[in-house]
Amino acid sequence: MVYKSIMTPNDLAFDKRHIWHPYTSMTTPLPVFPVQSAHGCELHLTTGERLVDGMSSWWAAIHGYNHPQLNAAMKAQIDEMSHVMFGGITHQPAVDLCRRLVAMTPAPLECVFLADSGSVAVEVAMKMALQYWQAKGQPRQRFLTFRNGYHGDTFGAMSVCDPDNSMHSLWQGYLPDNLFATAPQSRFDGEWDELDMVPFARLMAAHRHDIAAVILEPIVQGAGGMRFYHPEWLRRIRKMCDREGILLIADEIATGFGRTGKLFACEHAGIAPDILCLGKALTGGTMTLSATLTTRDVADTISNGEAGCFMHGPTFMGNPLACAVANASLQLLESGDWRNQVATIEAQLSRELAPIRDAETVADVRVLGAIGVVETRQPVNMAALQRFFVSRGVWVRPFGRLIYLMPPYIITSQQLSRLTQAVCDAVREPQHFLP
Ligand code: PMP
Repeated sequence: MVYKSIMTPNDLAFDKRHIWHPYTSMTTPLPVFPVQSAHGCELHLTTGERLVDGMSSWWAAIHGYNHPQLNAAMKAQIDEMSHVMFGGITHQPAVDLCRRLVAMTPAPLECVFLADSGSVAVEVAMKMALQYWQAKGQPRQRFLTFRNGYHGDTFGAMSVCDPDNSMHSLWQGYLPDNLFATAPQSRFDGEWDELDMVPFARLMAAHRHDIAAVILEPIVQGAGGMRFYHPEWLRRIRKMCDREGILLIADEIATGFGRTGKLFACEHAGIAPDILCLGKALTGGTMTLSATLTTRDVADTISNGEAGCFMHGPTFMGNPLACAVANASLQLLESGDWRNQVATIEAQLSRELAPIRDAETVADVRVLGAIGVVETRQPVNMAALQRFFVSRGVWVRPFGRLIYLMPPYIITSQQLSRLTQAVCDAVREPQHFLP
């Protein structure tokens, strides 16, 4: 069956009545826009409009949609096998992918666990840290992280998300009790302030024998506030973790694969974590797949522990179709064009978003790599703003007090201008904000 038909009002009514969308009410859902197809940097609606994509489908579609090399990789793999279990079996797409990941990530990371989504990669990372300490005969059960973080929607991941944004109050009594330091205040492009570290260092000192790992999003705090912090933070945390023997987990699910201008955001500080989570752009935004990498020491310690193995094994682990397309996506990255593309996007975003820095509705404008953020003073009226953007032929999905752009790396300068112009015009209209 090929989905060529126009979605009917009946289909949309069914969607509204029966289908959950992300973070959406079932009784008063926000409008949804029916997409027929996506090509390059455009989403094509069933109603005929073409929208320039400013979201890369949440950081994922870095090479744009319907990329011929990614499509070819998937089509070829389907004719071999779409899936086969990973227990007791291996296959070329997984071996090639893991070989690539080991080669492109910092040297100490050499053991790869493949899973289904970003949240699961974070669960895997946290379980690795817990099992590591268990195996050493010194069980530790707490994680130290920053406020304003976001690591996913499963319970372990949620337990290290910002307690307010992710409404920890809803899960009280069920959620593990982790440690939250004030979010970094020293900005990426600002002065390093030594005092910024004090609350974090105090928490670490007070709980140094309970903390299994520090978990953080390097440089860019994504869904928890789109904040860019100073690389000195990572260097200091790496040193503190080394001193205490505490593991460092870097969640590069959003930042990985070039988005911040470096292949991985940890490179801004020249550090390597003990455990690294990857996802989203791993498959170029085509299929769900994640990878958690760790060091030989962590892997060996876990394997020599009581369980004798790492206690995780999802049904779709190492899915060949997802691995095949991830290989094709990483091959595209290896050509290196992304460096120029991201640098060009960064320069254009900085130039074209600068005029609204002083707008009355705007609190801050910041740009890093292919990420442009406009922080507003009031929360956005999502329904009104989304309609406005669609009427301007762009796809931008703001949330809270954040309107942000993170387009596919292949975007043309005309397409990017269309996005930035729409954002600049949007913030000048008070009806786009809640009182
Ligand atoms: N970590 C980070 C930093 C993320 O941005 C996200 C997704 N927004 C996740 C984890 C969770 O990934 P997924 O939605 O694939 O479960």
